[in-house]
Amino acid sequence: MTDTLHPDLETLGGAGGVEQRRVLVTDLPGPLSQALHARKTAAVAAGIGTTLPVYVTKAGGGILVDVDGNQLIDFGSGIAVVNVGNAAPEVVSRVQDQVAQFTHTCFMVTPYEGYVEVCEALNRLTPGDHDKRSALFNSGAEAVENAVKIARRYTGRDAVVVFDHAYHGRTNLTMAMTAKNMPYKDGFGPFAGEVYRAPMSYPFHEPASIKGTEAAMRAISVIEKQVGADRVACVVIEPIQGEGGFVVPAEGFLPAIAEWCTANGVVFIADEIQTGFARTGDMFAVNHEGVVPDLMTTAKGIAGGLPLAAVTGRAEIMDSVHGGGLGGTYGGNPVACAAALGAIATIEQHDLAARARLIENIMVARLTELQARFPQIGEVRGRGAMIAVEIVKPGTTDPDAAETSRVSAACHQAGLVTLTCGTYGNVLRFLPPLVIGEDLLREGLDILEGAFAG
Ligand code: PMP
Repeated sequence: MTDTLHPDLETLGGAGGVEQRRVLVTDLPGPLSQALHARKTAAVAAGIGTTLPVYVTKAGGGILVDVDGNQLIDFGSGIAVVNVGNAAPEVVSRVQDQVAQFTHTCFMVTPYEGYVEVCEALNRLTPGDHDKRSALFNSGAEAVENAVKIARRYTGRDAVVVFDHAYHGRTNLTMAMTAKNMPYKDGFGPFAGEVYRAPMSYPFHEPASIKGTEAAMRAISVIEKQVGADRVACVVIEPIQGEGGFVVPAEGFLPAIAEWCTANGVVFIADEIQTGFARTGDMFAVNHEGVVPDLMTTAKGIAGGLPLAAVTGRAEIMDSVHGGGLGGTYGGNPVACAAALGAIATIEQHDLAARARLIENIMVARLTELQARFPQIGEVRGRGAMIAVEIVKPGTTDPDAAETSRVSAACHQAGLVTLTCGTYGNVLRFLPPLVIGEDLLREGLDILEGAFAG
């Protein structure tokens, strides 16, 4: 690994034949995308939203190609999924081989090696050298649900503790665990019970004097007073919050919460669904503070775009569940497992974690320059290729969601896919594929600068 992102996709095996260049041949969305979007509106339930109605026909590396022939730079990775890029060669070839062999038997009926191999890889890659087991599912929310089931079975306790700004999914239990009402929960209750919310460490919105350990004590006090330590089955936390606004807790917060869990027989569950698989510059975000969770949930980056999720953790906790207590028809589907093995091989062989750190260096340096010029950039934060800017009314920490939408829309018009997030809708987040070339990365940042300049 050199200290630049060059040489890029050539070394990484190509990008599925997609030229790594931004090309705009129409306004966005172009006429063919608009026609498809009219069909979407007539055929697809209105509740399924669209960030940017540009219809994709092909994608590779850091580029999305649309039906009108435009080529957009991808700073979204399909919400932190294609860490290895779209059409990563190892993913494509393994999936093609697998799909030609067999597509499904149901692992619970007649098993196959790929599932076992993915579990072995997860047990090896997740932190801690204790004995581990894994179980595979289809989506992040399903993994979180199962982690809670396992923690409850193991502890014989009911209560689940989550944090302000948390996002854990859209199923009934995970809606209860997710903090933000609109759009995730509004009108969808009643929600699952025995879910309690503790205050998060959110350094930008609190005095700098509050240390991570103090923020942890504040949360622990709420848990002890409002729930009772001996009623808590598990604490579930994103080491860096994703949908909640790329909130990086103050140093010391996560280790203190994890220690409290250990001292009180509470299962500490790290939700690494968005942060996992080299995204933050290490295989998992908990590694930055040496935290070893009892259980970890993973999804998104695990399988290069195919639907797969997992719970991995201490053997005695995982194996406390009776046979048949976990599972599902499709969980650990053989094609998804083949994709995961290809994605994991790509991440390891090409040290994509190191690449994520180089992306961080380039992005943070540039965004910090922009912060000095544009007073609406309140903070630049994140780790690896999970970087965000929080947009505020200049001179305050008051959120400015309208300015955030304006900047994001201007990026879209210029052919850069950006996403927003945050409880207050005022965080612009950047999640490029880890294989993105340096030229595209810098061009994306140029477009962002233009969008801020208005
Ligand atoms: N947890 C976290 C931290 C997430 O970011 C997400 C998805 N944004 C989920 C859970 C839910 O995953 P899925 O959409 O695959 O159900």
